[in-house]
Formats: sequence, structure tokens, C-alpha cells
Amino acid sequence: MTRELTLGILGGGQLAQMIALAAMPLGVRTVVLEPDAQAPARLCAEHLHASYTDPAGLKRLAGCDAVTLEFENVPVEATSVLDGQVPLRPSPAVLHRSKHRGREKAALEAAGANVAPYRMIETEAELEGALLAVGGQGILKTAELGYDGKGQVRVNSKHELRAAWTELGGVACVLEGLVPFVREVSLGVARGPDGTLSFGPLVENAHAGGILRRSIYPAQSSDAAAEQARILAGAVAEAWGVVGLITLEFFELSGGKLVVNEVAPRVHNSGHLTQDGGGVSQFEAAARAALGLPMQDFLPLHPCGMVNILGWEEGHEPDWAALDRISGAHLHLYHKANKPGRKLGHVNVVGRTREEVLAGMEQVEAALS
Ligand code: AMP
Repeated sequence: MTRELTLGILGGGQLAQMIALAAMPLGVRTVVLEPDAQAPARLCAEHLHASYTDPAGLKRLAGCDAVTLEFENVPVEATSVLDGQVPLRPSPAVLHRSKHRGREKAALEAAGANVAPYRMIETEAELEGALLAVGGQGILKTAELGYDGKGQVRVNSKHELRAAWTELGGVACVLEGLVPFVREVSLGVARGPDGTLSFGPLVENAHAGGILRRSIYPAQSSDAAAEQARILAGAVAEAWGVVGLITLEFFELSGGKLVVNEVAPRVHNSGHLTQDGGGVSQFEAAARAALGLPMQDFLPLHPCGMVNILGWEEGHEPDWAALDRISGAHLHLYHKANKPGRKLGHVNVVGRTREEVLAGMEQVEAALS
């Protein structure tokens, strides 16, 4: 008899697809609950094609050894049905925090982390004086349901703030002061049911238009900043009672101090490079942490980078043949239909040095443009 475990996932997108692919060789079958008929994970997991609150679907997930998730906006109705029936990792309490920017910032501060100056905007009256309070320049973000730069507007005056709030529908928002960061970095941390912590790499990220474009490891941060990131991530995981894997996004200030931007209660786009860096991947780590299997750090053994493949306008399809020829490049496509700007895949690049990786990433970008 071989080992046979079953992992349930709420959501069946590319993150679920890559968790399922990493879990399979561990003797783990994956079941995803996902309403989209064309969801990427359908190709490598049992696909329960139903809404997240479907009673039969949730019953099937409740029969798994553990359940995890690939996005934070899972309806509370779904997680409360599962809670208590099957280990749900991370827990509904962690999700409740990380799906709301205001609650998340308060919980981060309570765990001892620095966050950007912010004000909650829930009523029109709260717009008054808010921009000055966060430093005169800011970003208005919807408290819930924003991703990849959606639901965010930059504001430089109180008139712009008022207009931005109207544009976002007058819903609950967080106004953040603009952080003068020197770089953006992120770090995954997994915490086992016994409280053991294991860490991913400190990855350096570049965004454009609110969307992650490329990541590289090692980051240019100092060793002290990397240690600070691990201490903060561990402190948050412990204070929040996390079991499973979460990812912290940081702004690094010029002196090396880290400010937490946000927490994803799951694997993260910036961790994709761990698939090809030679160590345990973030996807294997997430599956192991959810199932309560022994953990180890999920660190690449080699310098590596990642470039996202975004959907293209007609006539701008990537040069696939050129991509296939780049030395050290590994293509990961999610089998999604093309739509301009949509995340369709990524290319990981591995090299002996950071410079070699950067050179490979430039070749990848040339083939993509
Ligand atoms: P988010 O969806 O909150 O991760 O924001 C997307 C990107 O917008 C971040 O990765 C940053 O590049 C930028 N950004 C968000 N918030 C701030 C901020 N308070 N100060 C400066 N840049 C920000």
C-alpha cells in the first residue's frame, strides 16, 4: 500500500493548479471546488464544478485530509461549513483578517509590524482631513475585493480623494500614505500544526500598473533586512495563530526598515521562482503545511527569477520558439484563454549568479514583447 492523502482547495485557478502538481508526487490527490468550467486546476485535480457554497461540493471537501485555498475572497458561508469538519489551513479567522485591508493593518500592528500610515474611509465625513493625516499623498484602496492594482486610485489632493472615493463606489476604503520605498520584497512563511515555522526566500519584486511583472532571488536587500523579514513573518504567523502558508509583501525603506504592505493567506506570485530554484517549492510547502506533514524551509538553492506572461493584444503574441531556446528558462503556462493583461503563465530563469539570471530574464522579456 502506498501513501494516499487528499487535499481540498477552495478555488481552481493557477495557484491551485500548481499546488496540485506539486502535491501529486507526495501521494496526494487534489480536489478543487471551483465554479469556472475552464479553471486551470481542472487539468490535474478532481474538479467539483460548482459554486463555493455548494453543499455537495463542500461535503466532498469536508471528506479530504485537509483543505486550503488559493484566494482570500472565499465566501464566509463556505469556510464556516468546513470549519470543525476538516483541518482548514489557513483558518477562517486568518482569512477574515486578510480579506479586509483595515482589519489586516490593525492585526499587523498588533503583531508588532509597521504598516503605511492609513485611515479607514467608511463615510463621506471621514474624507475630511484624511489625506493630510497620511502625509498629503496617498492611494485609496477598497477595503475588500481588490487585487492586481484593481480597486486602487492614487490621490494627491483632497479633491482627487473625494473623486476617487466616488469612483470606487463610495464603499469602505483604506487611504494609505504613499510609502517612499527603495524596493518591494516578499517572503512566505509556513507554520505547522505543532507551531514549527519554515520560511521561503526573500524575493525582490517589480510591479507595473499594480501588477507583479518580475521577481528575483536573492533580493538586493541586506542580510539584516532579510532577517528582519523572517522575524516579522514569524511574529505575524504566531500572533495570528496561522497553520498553513502565508506570504507577506513588504516595502523596504532606504535604511533597510521594512513596512508590511499586505498579507496573502496563500502561496503568492512572487514565490513561483521556487519551482525551479532547486529547493522545495512554495507549492509543495503549502501542501505539506496544510496536510500537517513535516516542514523544511522552501529556499531556492540557486539564484533565480520569474517573469510573468500577461495576456497580449492581437498581433503581440509571445515568440514561443525564442522562449523555448533561452538557456536556464522554464516555461509555466496555466492553460487559460488569452485576454489582454490577464496572468496566463510565467517563465522562471535559473542561473549561477544574479547577473546571469537578470540577463536571462531580459531575453525572456524580449521574447514576450
Ligand atoms: P497592493 O495591491 O496593495 O499590493 O498594491 C499594488 C502595488 O501598488 C504595490 O505592490 C506597490 O507597487 C504600489 N503601492 C501600493 N500601496 C502603496 C503605498 N502605500 N505606497 C507606495 N506604493 C504603493
